[in-house]
Amino acid sequence: MTLLEEAPAARNGHEPSRSRLVVVGNGMAGVRAVEEILARDGAGQFAITVFGDEPYGNYNRILLSNVLAGSDDTSEIYLNPVDWYTDNDIDLRAGVRVVRIDRFAKVVLADDGSTLHYDRLVIATGSRSFFPPMEGMWADNTTLTAGVFGFRSLDDCSGMIDYAAGKARAVVIGGGLLGLEAARGLQNRGLEVEVVHAAPTLMNAQLDDDAGAILRRSVENLGITVHTEKRTEKVLSADGAVTGIEFSDGTQVPCDMLVVSAGIRPNVGLAVRAGLTVERAIVVDDHLRSVDDENIYVVGECAQHRGQVYGLVAPLWEQATVLAEHLTGTNPKAVYQGSRMATKLKVAGVDVAAMGLKHPEHPDDEFVQFSEPRNGIYKTIVVRDGKLVGATLVGDVSKVAFLMQAFDRGLPLPEERISLMFDLGTPSVEVGAAELADDAQVCNCNGVSKAAIVSCVQGGQKTVSGVSAATRAGKGCGSCKGLLGQVVEWAAGGAVEEDASASWYVPGVPYAKPELMRLIRELELHSVSSVFAALAPEAAEDAQSKMGLASLLQMMWAEEYVEEHDARFINDRVHANIQRDGTFSVVPQMKGGVTSSEQLRKIADVADKYEVPLIKLTGGQRIDLLGIRKEDLPAVWADLDMPSGFAYGKSFRTVKTCVGTDFCRFGVGDSTALGIAIEERFKGIAGPGKMKLAVTGCPRNCAEALCKDLGVVAVEGGRWEIYVGGAAGAHVRKGDLLATVTSAAEVMTLTGRFLQYYRESANWLERTYSWVPRMGIEHLRAVVVDDSEGIAERLDAEMQKAVDAYRDPWTDGREPATPGQFRPSLPLTVLPQVPVR
Ligand SMILES: Cc1cc2nc3c(=O)[nH]c(=O)nc-3n(C[C@H](O)[C@H](O)[C@H](O)COP(=O)(O)OP(=O)(O)OC[C@H]3O[C@@H](n4cnc5c(N)ncnc54)[C@H](O)[C@@H]3O)c2cc1C
Ligand code: SF4
Repeated sequence: MTLLEEAPAARNGHEPSRSRLVVVGNGMAGVRAVEEILARDGAGQFAITVFGDEPYGNYNRILLSNVLAGSDDTSEIYLNPVDWYTDNDIDLRAGVRVVRIDRFAKVVLADDGSTLHYDRLVIATGSRSFFPPMEGMWADNTTLTAGVFGFRSLDDCSGMIDYAAGKARAVVIGGGLLGLEAARGLQNRGLEVEVVHAAPTLMNAQLDDDAGAILRRSVENLGITVHTEKRTEKVLSADGAVTGIEFSDGTQVPCDMLVVSAGIRPNVGLAVRAGLTVERAIVVDDHLRSVDDENIYVVGECAQHRGQVYGLVAPLWEQATVLAEHLTGTNPKAVYQGSRMATKLKVAGVDVAAMGLKHPEHPDDEFVQFSEPRNGIYKTIVVRDGKLVGATLVGDVSKVAFLMQAFDRGLPLPEERISLMFDLGTPSVEVGAAELADDAQVCNCNGVSKAAIVSCVQGGQKTVSGVSAATRAGKGCGSCKGLLGQVVEWAAGGAVEEDASASWYVPGVPYAKPELMRLIRELELHSVSSVFAALAPEAAEDAQSKMGLASLLQMMWAEEYVEEHDARFINDRVHANIQRDGTFSVVPQMKGGVTSSEQLRKIADVADKYEVPLIKLTGGQRIDLLGIRKEDLPAVWADLDMPSGFAYGKSFRTVKTCVGTDFCRFGVGDSTALGIAIEERFKGIAGPGKMKLAVTGCPRNCAEALCKDLGVVAVEGGRWEIYVGGAAGAHVRKGDLLATVTSAAEVMTLTGRFLQYYRESANWLERTYSWVPRMGIEHLRAVVVDDSEGIAERLDAEMQKAVDAYRDPWTDGREPATPGQFRPSLPLTVLPQVPVR
């Protein structure tokens, strides 16, 4: 961290050849404006002084979320180190606050007693956290109660990190971008976190209700409790430190620390006192000049342009460019016409993009909507007169580059609107790196254009990480990394060099999967903690790596794997799928989708006894009991007396079947019997991603086997076709034919071998629909069917070991693995009653 010991002495001297430019605010907008001015040879025109009341160099505020989450160190978030100011002859007054502007004398007065004349002034004071009036929030007029924090500055962030040590529970007030980021950060630091939001849905400023609901589900899947439509009235404390909050309905939530992220307010006090026009922020014209004073420019979150105040960085980059062009005279006609708000963010690990309209507004507007809550995916587009006027993407932003271009530039759209959301096997409409305009912004967070990336590559950087380090592209929320990779690859003309870390299996252990597996085997590492201790740099544990390692170790060691509960996500810890209200969904095994009256009776009895709010058939032909409380799980499992259906983990899920020869007059193979046998053998096997299978009794394909990770189709002559790598979720892909065999036994063998090869060589979270094309079906056929590498026997044996190690996780109900395994921890959110339809 760059802490300046002492601000340089005030220099009031007037250089005859240069005017003095004073910038108030050493934040993202102010310094970007200075960078743009320097890029236009502004150093020859202006002697520049920057005042910043934070005692640091200029840092990327966006990355405070990463600092809080522990994934970035404070030293990594500086945009401009102090040397940069010196090298560019900028007089930086860090830790010095400007308290008054005397417009008539053209002087600023600072809190260190200094004064400084200006010829031109840039106000870039940004915003501050807003603390809604709440009893008990403040210890006195200026000090928050101990344990209460805003989330705006590096000091806020450091304060939170220090205070969080040894604390167990945090509440975050505010379910917008910052609140969710704060929640995720504190959760990463080991606290149980609850988010309280006054509106009915999360991030309601950017997202519509459906998207907000899906985001909520994704956030809850992370184990964060969400309360919506709750107004906090009191901050409770004991001995001067926060102990909880109280809602307007009188209910209370205990906590050890409280983060208030209920909005921001532009810092406009200076401008008000200087007599500038201030509405929601300081009112500026199209040159970013105060409407009252032609020597004063305003940029960033403290500026109000055509009634609009922006709270994200992308508009600031545009403002800074216009300001610099006008101020330096390089383009006196430069005008800012407002920014079209297209945002691409990663919120609490979930990709989100939003631009323009959330809903159709005119009767002729076209509206296309796709929603897949289970996988956290939601997409909408609004088209008017053939042009994109709005789009929302949650969970999958693979099409965002084209959508942003189409939105910004009014590009013509494909007739098949759905192809704006997905690749459907139709020619891709996605703009490739080649077609992307030079000034198209690839990284919104750091304002890096395609041209800047290309010039960096042409300057000799040939790795994605090298370009990222040099340009800062991809160093913000991370949602542009895919596009960045494409642009680097294109610019390098195929000469792109591998990033070592890109091949690591998990981010915290520097080895690719084969090398990692070899070391784990050689060093006999049976638990996640032992892998970190032996193989991670400085033996550091990395939260993001734990799940992937746990799955890998389980695959490799089967029975000898040593389970550590803290390495698991909540779903894997309690063997059920957490729901948006904090309850769980319970799906018992129903092999091949076949059940019996006895099973149905048991399920019905359990549903009655535990007042299950929703009983639902799943897409995988099972029955889902939704709304079970954590503490009831063991009893529910005992009463059901059926094994787990593994509907929650990265593991073998189901085998969907059709009725086949027994009953169907078209059937040519006994799909039901084969499906049951496959499920019986491979149930619960862990993998890098979910494995969903199907067996269908004839090519009419009623069980949809062509879009499964592995699908089997009975064909004439007693033969079975095996398809692999299919999908019909967010990604739609028809499976590739792996083999045609003549017996159910061969299906069984090849299924086991294929799944084992997938388990061993796929990346963490890589589904077969990506892995199969990556490996190539010919290669897979050679290895799995023709044994070209001579490993078939070993693959079969490894799979057998995994099959033998099967254990029904629901037996944990009889003997919990830890005392707290099924202890209630989250107050439940009230959900609407499901109407009987
Ligand atoms: C945790 C966090 C995460 C964010 N994530 C995203 C994101 O993912 N995407 C996105 O687009 N945006 C994000 N933002 C918003 C983004 O950081 C802001 O839009 C941006 O920083 C605004 O820049 P600014 O220069 O206007 O204000 P700031 O960056 O706040 O800079 C203003 C500076 O002026 C100083 N100052 C104020 N008054 C005075 C004075 N009188 N004298 C001297 N100095 C003064 C302030 O202390 C501050 O250092 C995030 C913000 C936070 C806090
Ligand atoms: S796939 Fe064929 S066998 Fe199976 S139900 Fe459909 S028509 Fe019948």
